[in-house]
Amino acid sequence: MFETLGNKLQDILERLRRESTLTETQVKAAMREIRMALLEADVNFGVARDFVARVSEKAVGTEVLGSLTAGQQVVKVVHDELIETLGGTAHQPTLKNEGNVFFMVGLQGAGKTTSSGKLAQFYKSKGRRVLLVAADTQRPAAREQLRTLGQQVGVPVLEVANGETPAQTRQRVQDFLKTDFRDLVIVDTAGRLQIDEALMDQLADLSGAMQPTETLLVVDAMTGQEALNVAKAFDERVSLSGLIITKMDGDARGGAALSARFQTGKPIYFAGTSEKLNGLEPFYPDRVAGRILGMGDVLGLIERAQQADLAQMEMKKAGEFDLEDLLTQLRQIRKMGPLGELMKLIPGMSRALPEGFNVDEKQIQKIDALISSMTLKERRNPGILNASRRRRIASGSGSSVQEVNRLIKMHEQMKGMMKLLQGMQGGKPGAKMPK
Ligand code: GDP
Repeated sequence: MFETLGNKLQDILERLRRESTLTETQVKAAMREIRMALLEADVNFGVARDFVARVSEKAVGTEVLGSLTAGQQVVKVVHDELIETLGGTAHQPTLKNEGNVFFMVGLQGAGKTTSSGKLAQFYKSKGRRVLLVAADTQRPAAREQLRTLGQQVGVPVLEVANGETPAQTRQRVQDFLKTDFRDLVIVDTAGRLQIDEALMDQLADLSGAMQPTETLLVVDAMTGQEALNVAKAFDERVSLSGLIITKMDGDARGGAALSARFQTGKPIYFAGTSEKLNGLEPFYPDRVAGRILGMGDVLGLIERAQQADLAQMEMKKAGEFDLEDLLTQLRQIRKMGPLGELMKLIPGMSRALPEGFNVDEKQIQKIDALISSMTLKERRNPGILNASRRRRIASGSGSSVQEVNRLIKMHEQMKGMMKLLQGMQGGKPGAKMPK
């Protein structure tokens, strides 16, 4: 997400930061570079122009220039303006106690069905009772896909039949809610490859019948700012309230996210960050701006840790830390997301890591498989593993004896490191990570 743009902006700002005082010429040159970087990231022309104008005005027009911390102040101005460009304060869909209806619209392939499933999971985890309505009668497999997602999340899915009228659909939903109370109904609607009148008429009719409380446009970040061109047409017919930008994980530029507010006037509610059901994050402009500028996103990291229940992870005495504990911790951490992505949430880390850096997930899976092939007794006390057991474990997990030996050695080293660390911190085993 935003890697290309982030790296460029960070380079430009790093140079400014190193200067003790700044001249107007220096700032203007940097602003030209920033404008180029934004345009290359497929940010809308108007956004890039306004952004640079606002930063220049603040940086040149005040006493920033010539002050001792000029470089740092310019960085702060850029950070503030990035937040504004991304939408200012965070916006989330409004939720009443009951009677909430979310209407999901967008072009085919944008990620509507997937996002409907993700939203169901997100709100279910917040204690909402969700009903999914599969109203995408256009794409043949969409209803089946939503049914599967509903099963995975554990929420019911009501499927619209071919030829059903919007009034009939509304009636069926009402009947359903009478027997099984739900406070949030998420409707996955039909998309087309392009906007056409027939689709818009169909959506407008269904929207009229369902009376959504929120209408969310789903757009694909990989198509850049182009993705936003459809917003106007949808807004005119079904009145949009906010956006979900999907596939941010595959978009190194960020054009759609940075242009969204300017081009559509609507806030970004959520960002899709993977194909998985937990790959949906509420969109916080300040945190995203921090990530773009390599300042990390510590709050995001803490939230993911809480979701994965890492907060409950006990810190053990180094001597007691066995392979079973290692396995539990590895699995908890993997729940937080790909390790390479997680590292980038740590301030300064996105710059420190080499380009294209990724933790080798296969190695981690291997460790998981190795430990899983051991008995609980062996995990608790790897010392009892003799040569024949090591061979069995190797073949049971599709690895070699050397790999088993390496794991055991690594575990010994980890214990040594933990002893050292606990010694340095005055050793407080049994302490929990702060919530
Ligand atoms: P729809 O036609 O709008 O309902 O689109 P789908 O929900 O079927 O999504 C189209 C494709 O995009 C599927 O292969 C999804 O797995 C994928 N997809 C959706 N959201 C994301 C996301 O946030 N990240 C990634 N990497 N893939 C996504």
